[in-house]
Amino acid sequence: MKFGPTRENDDSWGLLPCPFCGGAVTLELAKESIDVIYGPRRWWGVVCRNTGNVGGTCCMEQVPSASKRAAVSRWNMRNGVSERLQEGEE
Ligand SMILES: [Zn+2]
Repeated sequence: MKFGPTRENDDSWGLLPCPFCGGAVTLELAKESIDVIYGPRRWWGVVCRNTGNVGGTCCMEQVPSASKRAAVSRWNMRNGVSERLQEGEE
């Protein structure tokens, strides 16, 4: 697995497929915020946009991370991925 330090192309991140439907996923900007210390921050999360499932759409969303690298790293470790769907916290 390789992570290019300055690459913006999602394809270069080596994302693993969606653990729920096996579909392709994308790294997306989830939200932006202003931090008192760090200033403007961008939050990134991996999202599954697979709508070809039997039984409906997947729409899996990862809890956002403060950097692309962190989001990809967490995704590939399956960290923070299953919480929302399985426990239905919202
Ligand atoms: Zn999926």
